[in-house]
Amino acid sequence: MTPTPNRADFTACSGCGVCQLSCPVWRATRDLRHTPHGRAKALQHGVPVADLAPFVESCTLCGSCEPACPENIALVDMVLALRRQLPPLAPAPLHDAAPATGHAGGDMLLAGHHAAHTQAAAYLGCVLAADSGSDIALALEAGEDIPAHRLEAFLAPLRAAQTLIVTDGLLLRALTDWLPRVRATSLGFALSLRPEIRRALRADDLYVIEPRAFHFDHARRVQHYDNLRHDTGCAMNLDLQRFAIPATARNLRQRLGLETPDDTAQARWILQGRKIQRIVVESEEDITAFKQVCDLPVVYLAELLEYTGMKSRTHA
Ligand code: SF4
Ligand code: SF4
Repeated sequence: MTPTPNRADFTACSGCGVCQLSCPVWRATRDLRHTPHGRAKALQHGVPVADLAPFVESCTLCGSCEPACPENIALVDMVLALRRQLPPLAPAPLHDAAPATGHAGGDMLLAGHHAAHTQAAAYLGCVLAADSGSDIALALEAGEDIPAHRLEAFLAPLRAAQTLIVTDGLLLRALTDWLPRVRATSLGFALSLRPEIRRALRADDLYVIEPRAFHFDHARRVQHYDNLRHDTGCAMNLDLQRFAIPATARNLRQRLGLETPDDTAQARWILQGRKIQRIVVESEEDITAFKQVCDLPVVYLAELLEYTGMKSRTHA
């Protein structure tokens, strides 16, 4: 079993270089400074954090390096801690604090408020949270402080939930710290446990896992997705450097809207050499990139049953 990363301490880095093998930024740049290895060694030799800004901002927080690190360093937390030491790139657009309303228990879905998520909530038998926390997820990514009143307004309605089902992998990671008594999981994981969804998957599908949640809960998810692959026969984005899916391959500047994301190179790389007829994505953000580089149908997992049954809301 993969041990849970337990420290965001760059001094523990041995310089083995294993992390760069799985890093999509290393693949794109071939520049060691963009890897955990490069950042840790620079810090060990006394380079100021400010001088590392481009290499701290380039990390996509996909988490692929973390389970690979033999020193068990919390590499995502390390990048987030470094970002908190840098001047903000752009102010995080935090919402006004919403009034905290309680929740009567049961499961709750934190997602956008569009038809697919309303349907997913109904299918999973849970309530769609009024406050998705998307602004908090962005502030987390940027390493910005979240005002206590905003965080409390976000968390208050979630405390009574039995399970939180979350579309954003970084928010999932933070919520397990903030609300340790509430069980939290990702939407992709929750949906792919359902027998109807498993039956709708085909052997000629590429099933694209959302990597942030996968790597955060690595040991449990390896087993889950191995079983899913075995049961359905579908291919998955489980190769070295091909795990970071297009949207998760965006860097901080792209996330903050300071650069236009170009997801197509990563999407092409993920598709290279595969014999598939359909792409099923756990993250809705990935639909556009895959559509730009192939003619295959691209289906959001939350819409898979509808696609299979009626074919009325496809992204083909
Ligand atoms: S989180 Fe992803 S992008 Fe960042 S260093 Fe690790 S593998 Fe590279
Ligand atoms: S895998 Fe861990 S110990 Fe090895 S170079 Fe990367 S951060 Fe350092």
